[in-house]
Amino acid sequence: MDADARAAATCASCGSADVEARRVRSAFWHDDRLVVVEDIPALVCGACGEHSYEDYTVIVLDLLRGGGFPADKARGELRAAVFSFFDGVAEKGES
Ligand SMILES: [Zn+2]
Repeated sequence: MDADARAAATCASCGSADVEARRVRSAFWHDDRLVVVEDIPALVCGACGEHSYEDYTVIVLDLLRGGGFPADKARGELRAAVFSFFDGVAEKGES
């Protein structure tokens, strides 16, 4: 992206011009695996936190997904805690 395009960027969600180019990480489900991709170039809205990606970035993410995220290419591993939605549902009828 050139400087003019960056200056003209506005948030697609809230319209704020407080949009900053940053590297973000995101988690994706791939079949039944959860994978994390770091260093994704994104525009991040300082007002509402919305992340937006350029078309090129989306294409690269699709290529990564199409490559199947082979385990031997992983930069590292994270442990993730797993919760059930129903852990957050108040139990009714017990009071
Ligand atoms: Zn916004």
